[in-house]
Order: sequence, then structure tokens, then C-alpha cells
Amino acid sequence: MTSIAIIGAGLAGITLARALAPHARITLFEKARGLGGRMSTRRDDARQWDHGAQFFTARTPAFREWLAPFIADGTVAQWHPRITTLSPDRPPYPRPWFEPHYVAVPAMNALVKGLARGLDIRLQTRVAELERRPAGWRLWDEHGSHLGDYDWVVSAAPLPQARALLPLPDRIFDGFAMQPCYALLLAVDDGSLPGWDAAVVREAPVRWIACNHRLPGRNRRAGALVVHSTPEWAAERLEDDQAEVQAQLLEVFCTLTGVAPTAITGARLHRWRYALSAEVKQPAPGFLLDPQARLAACGDWCLGGRVEAAFTSGLALAGALARRL
Ligand SMILES: Cc1cc2nc3c(=O)[nH]c(=O)nc-3n(C[C@H](O)[C@H](O)[C@H](O)COP(=O)(O)OP(=O)(O)OC[C@H]3O[C@@H](n4cnc5c(N)ncnc54)[C@H](O)[C@@H]3O)c2cc1C
Repeated sequence: MTSIAIIGAGLAGITLARALAPHARITLFEKARGLGGRMSTRRDDARQWDHGAQFFTARTPAFREWLAPFIADGTVAQWHPRITTLSPDRPPYPRPWFEPHYVAVPAMNALVKGLARGLDIRLQTRVAELERRPAGWRLWDEHGSHLGDYDWVVSAAPLPQARALLPLPDRIFDGFAMQPCYALLLAVDDGSLPGWDAAVVREAPVRWIACNHRLPGRNRRAGALVVHSTPEWAAERLEDDQAEVQAQLLEVFCTLTGVAPTAITGARLHRWRYALSAEVKQPAPGFLLDPQARLAACGDWCLGGRVEAAFTSGLALAGALARRL
């Protein structure tokens, strides 16, 4: 049976692995301790924060059809937040949503975790190098340990990591781009928070604030906020002192929301170096594939960077690879 190594256990990698499992021997490598990638969840004793994607939409019939059983079994729920728009210079105003928004339950990583069941996944294993062998590829981790030989290697990692790992001509990656984002995770007693559940922010270093504990299926008593910076603001401060970045974001949050600094009982910062993808200008197949080299790449960045794009990219690549196995 053909062997395939997939690098990255986010939604794209897991979707690809599940679709190819009947046709090939699949091994997934994930550098993190847990599953989910940018659909991950951070926890402390009482609270949890979905510090990457907070929700997703479903715009294609294929994704809606795929989601239906997860909605039916409660792994995914529709989110009906009270949304406001905040800006430093204008009073807040409500901002209705015109399409369904979904979240995984009880945490954003629940969807990927459920899909990962039964797959061969090596967690805490960072693929550092690919070595060409007479019949395929040998993988190595950053400690120089051998991770096995495979007929095919697929990157389901963010664009800069795929570009660094895959020995493919650099021009193949032209036209794709990713931007960073800071996530500030706050512990705040729910009684000290405004009435809205989430805010779209304009004209500020912050673009999104959510009362994470009020998402469906969360512990509503354990106040947990997620504040996302704009990508531009993050890019300018990516290598700055992280304590300073946290203090600046905290100040912006308190000014925008009117929440008193004394109401905040805990704060931590997460730096997403590769968070959000730019729109893809050229109509693309949704993946990269070099059949001669037996290398491929998928991920949200191939289609413009959303949860649905990660699914669509993984599935599209699975179809193309299955025809070659
Ligand atoms: C702050 C933020 C907010 C977002 N908001 C939204 C939103 O509101 N709606 C929406 O639809 N989407 C949103 N997104 C985007 C969404 O999270 C992504 O589109 C989606 O999760 C990408 O899935 P993926 O599988 O393509 O990549 P990822 O989830 O990034 O998975 C890639 C995996 O590869 C692993 N990896 C990388 N390099 C290696 C290596 N060398 N070896 C082993 N493993 C490796 C990584 O650890 C990671 O787990 C947001 C993302 C962020 C960060």
C-alpha cells in the first residue's frame, strides 16, 4: 500500500487523512502537544479560550453537507451572539449577522479531535527535513531522529512552514500570503462585562473581542475573553517585548469596552505568527501538487484562509491524490 506522510494535524491535514485512509497508509505528524492547529483551545483550571478561530461559516454545499452530522450530534452548534461594533470615536451600534455562524462544542478543538479518532498521529513531532530517497522521501525531526520513509509527503502546515519544508520551486508559492495576529486571553468575572457577546472593532489595534464563555456549550460562569489584534498591528510588533505588547492590548481593550483593569483577574498573550491568509487572487485548485516529486501541500492559505477553506483544500487534494494511488 502507498505510504503518505502528512505534516500538520489541523482541519486540512485531518480532512485529507480521513479521505485517503481507505486508499493509503497514512501517518500524520503534528508539532504541537494537542490537535486542532488554529482551531485550538487553551485552558486553565476553570476557564477555556478558543484563541484561534472563534467561529466559522459554511458557504459551499459540500461543507454544509459535511457539517450536518456534526450539527445533529452536537459537536457543532450554531452561534447566535449579540454582536456590537466598537470604535474609539463612535458610540457602539449593534451589527446583525446575515448568515449562520458555527462553533465546535464544548471547545473549538472538539471537531478536529473527533475527526482524528483512529488515525495514526504522532504528536509533539516537528518535521524538520525531507531527504530524497530512491523511492520516495525520508523524514527527520529537529533532533535528527528518523521519522520513517514514505512514498508521498504532504504539507498541511501554514504557508511559510510548507514553503520552508517542501523542496519545490519557490515560484509555486507565489500569489499566497499569510499575516500574524496576537490573541489576548483574559479572565474577567462575567458580572463586570458589557451585555454584548462579541464585538467587531473598527479603527483600532484590535479587530475582534468575544466573551468566549458565552459561546454554546461553554461554562458561562467562568468569564473568559478573547481579544484579537489586527494583522497589521501584530506585524509591526511581532518581535517586540511580549509583556509590552500584552500591556498595550490590555489598555486598548479597557478603553474600548469600559471594563475596569481591576476587574481583570488574569491575562496572557498568544502570538500567532501565521494566523490569517490573504485572499487568493488567481482561481486555484485549492492545493499544490507535484506528481513527479510526489510532494503536495494543502491548507486554508491555498483558498483564502478560513476554516471552510482548510476543509475544502484538504478534501480537494485527497481527490487529486486518490486518482494517483
Ligand atoms: C487568530 C485567528 C482567528 C481566526 N478567525 C477565524 C474565523 O473567525 N473564521 C474562520 O473561518 N477562520 C478563522 N481563522 C482561520 C482558521 O483558524 C484556519 O483557516 C484553519 O484553522 C486552518 O486550518 P489548517 O488545517 O489549514 O491549518 P492549521 O490549523 O494551522 O494546522 C496546521 C498544523 O500544522 C502544524 N505544523 C506546522 N509545521 C509543522 C511541522 N514542521 N511539523 C509538524 N507539524 C507542523 C501546526 O502545529 C498546525 O497544527 C482564524 C485563525 C486565527 C489564528
